[in-house]
Amino acid sequence: MKLSLVIPVYNESENLPILHEQILQALGSIPGLAWELIYVDDGSTDQSPAVLEKLVQASPAHTVALLLRRNFGQTAAIAAGIDHARGEVIILMDADLQNDPADIPHMLEMIDQGYDVVSGWRENRQDAFITRVLPSRIANWLISTVTGVHLHDYGCTLKAYRREVLAGFRLYGEMHRFIPAYAHSVGARMVELPVRHHPRRYGKTKYGLTRTIKVLLDLITVKFLISYSNKPIYPFGGMGIVLILISMCLLLFLLVRRLLFQISVTESPFFSSSLMVMILGFQSILLGLIAEMQVRTYHESQKKPTYTIRKRLESTQEADPVDVYPDRNP
Ligand code: UDP
Ligand code: MG
Repeated sequence: MKLSLVIPVYNESENLPILHEQILQALGSIPGLAWELIYVDDGSTDQSPAVLEKLVQASPAHTVALLLRRNFGQTAAIAAGIDHARGEVIILMDADLQNDPADIPHMLEMIDQGYDVVSGWRENRQDAFITRVLPSRIANWLISTVTGVHLHDYGCTLKAYRREVLAGFRLYGEMHRFIPAYAHSVGARMVELPVRHHPRRYGKTKYGLTRTIKVLLDLITVKFLISYSNKPIYPFGGMGIVLILISMCLLLFLLVRRLLFQISVTESPFFSSSLMVMILGFQSILLGLIAEMQVRTYHESQKKPTYTIRKRLESTQEADPVDVYPDRNP
């Protein structure tokens, strides 16, 4: 199986038949492509499940709809689809006709050129400026700066991934938009591709401005996981050492003041606060040590390596016997 197309669906009943038609057309235009199509209904309360049932029955084999028991959120729906996908390449796409299936052939071409991730970029985004485009620009800039992976459009769902780069990445919260940053951290080769974007014709968007806050919090988690998940003692311990140094400077200042001007050390408010800072510093180092133990449990219990191999190159030549002790042999 070459391609798995994964599509999260939440209350998109009017869009589904049109979308399905467009997808079959786009996939049919690639000769010899073995594909599967996975819709994940995320607990829709409209007619979407019934529409999906009809579409699946009338479709070629390898069209699947997974109906989740309730609304778990777009990220969870995507995770369910990825767990069921068997293709070498996984493409994610929205169900609301804002992404265009006609971009899929081009994405597959880029994957065949050797890229591991093809990141769709809605160059001409068709959404409200103040509530959607502007927050999204700020978020993209922030995510790019913090993760060091510079993409124009983290929020665009339409992206293609070679399956290996997704392995081992569990999706929580609203984290599907951080998959490219994660993929980069395991050494994926990435490219951006401008894709079409259409205004929403049927149904409503499921998100508002509150998503920005969730994205910010997820960004902190992702940054920590990518940069420090193998060495948590560095940020915690680093902070601990800084706190202890601050507290020692304060104490030294109090001591010098006592010696020069006979001002009491213990009566100064700096005395108790410096002790507090010192305790915080030691706590922080201890927290780092506990996190270090957790990291070991995490990797060793799941036999998860701390590295990823792209390819193994091996000589096919027969090995010549190596003379280890040339001097001793006649
Ligand atoms: N979606 C979902 N579960 C949710 C919210 C959204 O599966 O709880 C799906 C939705 O049906 C659509 C995609 O995720 O296919 C993106 O949603 P939406 O178009 O509302 O987001 P926007 O494009 O406005 O960012
Ligand atoms: Mg949309």
